[in-house]
Amino acid sequence: MTTNEELYAQAEAHIPGGVNSPIRAFRAVGGTPYFVERAEGPRVWDVEGTEYLDLVQSYGAVIAGHAHPAIVSAIQEAATKGTSYGAPTEGEVRIAEEICARVPSVEKVRLVSSGTEATMSAIRLARGHTGRTKLVKFAGNYHGHGDALLAQSGSALAVFSLPESVGVTEATVADTIVIPFNEVPTLDDQVAAVILEPAAANMGLIPPEEGFLQALRDECDRVGALLIFDEVITGFRVARGGAQELYGVDADLTCFGKVIGGGLNIGAFGGRAEIMDSLAPDGPVFQAGTLSGNPLATAAGRAALDLLDDAAYDRLRAGATRLADGLAKAFADAGIDVVIPRVSSLVGLHLGDTAPRTYDDAKTTDVDRYRRFFHAMLRRGVAMAPGAYEVLFPGLAHTDDVIDDIVARASEAAAEVAEG
Ligand SMILES: *Cc1c(COP(=O)(O)O)cnc(C)c1O
Repeated sequence: MTTNEELYAQAEAHIPGGVNSPIRAFRAVGGTPYFVERAEGPRVWDVEGTEYLDLVQSYGAVIAGHAHPAIVSAIQEAATKGTSYGAPTEGEVRIAEEICARVPSVEKVRLVSSGTEATMSAIRLARGHTGRTKLVKFAGNYHGHGDALLAQSGSALAVFSLPESVGVTEATVADTIVIPFNEVPTLDDQVAAVILEPAAANMGLIPPEEGFLQALRDECDRVGALLIFDEVITGFRVARGGAQELYGVDADLTCFGKVIGGGLNIGAFGGRAEIMDSLAPDGPVFQAGTLSGNPLATAAGRAALDLLDDAAYDRLRAGATRLADGLAKAFADAGIDVVIPRVSSLVGLHLGDTAPRTYDDAKTTDVDRYRRFFHAMLRRGVAMAPGAYEVLFPGLAHTDDVIDDIVARASEAAAEVAEG
């Protein structure tokens, strides 16, 4: 048997930091990452045969749970017909129809291969369409690793305390204006777009305050800037039509990822036809991709969306509520200050006494306590994200029994952490 330690040593020899996405290296919590061998529903098993109840769920990409039979068979069937063509397919048409049907502000949508590509392309489109240069983003909101957006992002960057990356030039972010979340800026007519996570889920979980999204919508309209919702996490998760349905505020452009690929590589951005038609080949804004609209990804994504009917959203919400209530009680019983924000089926874990509303607030979470709780949970067979600024992703595979099991282990873990 190859152990996690051995594999990690081998990985470090040929992969920077031993991982293909920094958070996976466990730097924020210490220790050696577990190497996954297989996964099913709410469970993952590592190469040593250890079983974990999984709350990572590919950071939300597998909302139906790991290896869901309907999604696996959709991928298998698609794969036998070829894996990529360089020509359009019916699968792309059907998933585009489904996305537009669920999100009324999206009349046309283009498929890409990741959330990062979606936000990068949406911003280019917004600039090209408006003929303006400035971009406004919110501190602690993460929009992937595109240069212009790597200014005060959350997630792994929060963990590493890097305000931006080396290698991103000052010129690239010179037109990016970073402001605090939950505060409405005064814009001017140089602003092409305002981009945000309508519910911020990469600095812990911070819901928008009452009226914030509508006020932002109004301010964008006042100066003719486009409002871009990055719904890479919230899309098709917090409601059938995403955060814009949940909060009743429409975006001009919306970015998707994670859920819509059913665990395969996909991203998408869409909006009003009049804006989307600025894209090549109809318009002057170039954007392209060899694997865009990949037939395996569209098959997996459609199978995932097929599972997400109204009853599924009821179950997702109920499960997340059960988890949030259980965790709140576990920490209260242990005498540890905690705030457990919840947005529909998304659950946050803020180790502090006050609900955060900005990135600065989010950074008051007790990262050392998170590190200890993380390992106390991992030792008890519960996998959470290895970073204090990620959220929990209970999904359709997390039945009440699974959630109660997680909560029982969390009670023990919290008690252990309280003992110091
Ligand atoms: C994950 C994420 C992205 C980036 O998506 P990738 O597929 O990792 O490139 C963008 N925005 C948000 C809100 C995300 O959570």
